[in-house]
Amino acid sequence: MRGFLGKRIDACVAKRIFAQDPDLLVAPFRQRAERGCWQTEFWGKWALSAAAAWEYTGNAESRARLLASARDLLATQSPNGYIGNYAEDSHLAGWDIWGRKYTLLGLLRLFDMSGDRSLLDGAKRLTAHLQTEVGSGKADIVTQGLYRGMAASSILEPMVLLFRHTGDQAHIQFAEYIVGRWSSERGPQLIEKALAGVPVAQRFPRPKKWFSWENGGKAYEMMSCYVGLLELFRETGRAPYLEAALRAHQNIHETEINLAGSGSAEECWYGGRALQTTPAHNSMETCVTMTWMQFGAQLLRLTGDPCFADDIEASVYNALAGAMTPDGSSFGQYSGLEGQREPGVPQCGMQLNCCQANGPRGLMLLPAVAVMHSGEGPWVNLYEQGEYPLVLPSGQPATLSMVTTYPFSGAVSLRVHLKAPERFTLRLRIPQWSAQTALTVNGSVVQGVKPGSYAAVDRRWNSGDGLELKMDFRMRLIRSPGNGTARFVAVQRGPLTLARDLRLGQSGIDNAVSLTSAGDGTLPAKVLPLIDGIGMNFAVPESRAGEIRLCAYASAGNSWKADSRFRVWMPEA
Ligand SMILES: [Zn+2]
Repeated sequence: MRGFLGKRIDACVAKRIFAQDPDLLVAPFRQRAERGCWQTEFWGKWALSAAAAWEYTGNAESRARLLASARDLLATQSPNGYIGNYAEDSHLAGWDIWGRKYTLLGLLRLFDMSGDRSLLDGAKRLTAHLQTEVGSGKADIVTQGLYRGMAASSILEPMVLLFRHTGDQAHIQFAEYIVGRWSSERGPQLIEKALAGVPVAQRFPRPKKWFSWENGGKAYEMMSCYVGLLELFRETGRAPYLEAALRAHQNIHETEINLAGSGSAEECWYGGRALQTTPAHNSMETCVTMTWMQFGAQLLRLTGDPCFADDIEASVYNALAGAMTPDGSSFGQYSGLEGQREPGVPQCGMQLNCCQANGPRGLMLLPAVAVMHSGEGPWVNLYEQGEYPLVLPSGQPATLSMVTTYPFSGAVSLRVHLKAPERFTLRLRIPQWSAQTALTVNGSVVQGVKPGSYAAVDRRWNSGDGLELKMDFRMRLIRSPGNGTARFVAVQRGPLTLARDLRLGQSGIDNAVSLTSAGDGTLPAKVLPLIDGIGMNFAVPESRAGEIRLCAYASAGNSWKADSRFRVWMPEA
């Protein structure tokens, strides 16, 4: 990937993922005195992003360092199997099980990458020890830690992945035990409330204390449970698991996700979609952005419904790209739709916070999401300059190249390179926002291309065959949701949400505007020359000031100082 996303991935891999000293992440595991913090999530999160970065780059030195850190981590494993940093009398409290989850995920991912059995054995012993502490007749998983047991319960995901490797019924039974406890009186009711359509922000009474067991609206932990539930669906085929996850995702999309493709305030769901024109404290946690993308990627793989790819696209081009510092070395913890970008603070005596550890995982999801495969052929989800390896239905390897300046322009040239001609179906995602789309194959028009679907081109492909895709990049005027008396407008172009930014030379970025759209909601606009540090920017006619200037939300505020204060929603005159 060599365009807008690829450049960000390269910067993040070089300056954040591979720049990490793994010893700092393993060090806490040598202490056994913790009672409330989450130092033990950081090695696993880093290992997941570093494994993906290694697969993407093939960098041998990084692979060796990653596997060496896993051996250092395993050296901290107790004879009874425990890996963590909690004091013996505080096991299961706070973030202990959550930390074990990330350790398991990291060990299993590195086992997949290396085939080193000691990693799988370490994961099995860690799980066997957990099963001596948690389960029927022992500690109840949903009463452990915070957020109605959702943090602890999200260990469901690696439990299913472990079963996939071992085939050991004890592992799948433990996974089913966790899901069974969700439905208990004290459980988070993740299946029942989703099936009943209860909005995610209204599932439980407002907690007296945010940092507590009774807080049932914590966004990242809730979605992490659904990610695990979808893995369990893959093993069991139990339809309510998929249905509950689909309805939860839809509810989050409809009630929480804002114009930048993220949501949450104080890391919790709060009905944020309808409230997004009002600033909220600590909104759009980067962990929420990443997990929303991960949740969508799971559903995209299971259903082939392009609405999930549309959601991922909105998150990555806006919320996630905007949260990353321009040099790739860090991610902000919270982002808003207006204000000034701020770095997060280090947590638990580490030099990192949860979001700096998760932002890279969001970017590293993209190579796998961009082009997916089914038995019928490839599915193109993201449009990005680059070369994509394909495996065709016959097993023949091939390459798909994309030439484009997306998301600056909506024109993409795709070309298939393969040794022997082969018939297969190539699917291209037509974004929901692209009202008018043109597609040709070797110059012939493809009919029936609809927004919010995949255009399926089924033919015998020869090497060098090409497609030209032209998406609708007219500016779109967006009116504020909700029933408030104050009205706001915002502007989008292609996958990008746009923003005003003080650096565009207009002091009155908070002034009311009057924008006149055509009947189909599109706005006339001028594309202006790129500006250093901001990149693409546009002028839109405005009836009072003559015009207003807008840039991508992803670059708005990216001096991370007051000089680049920005806003997405503009008061309407
Ligand atoms: Zn976070």
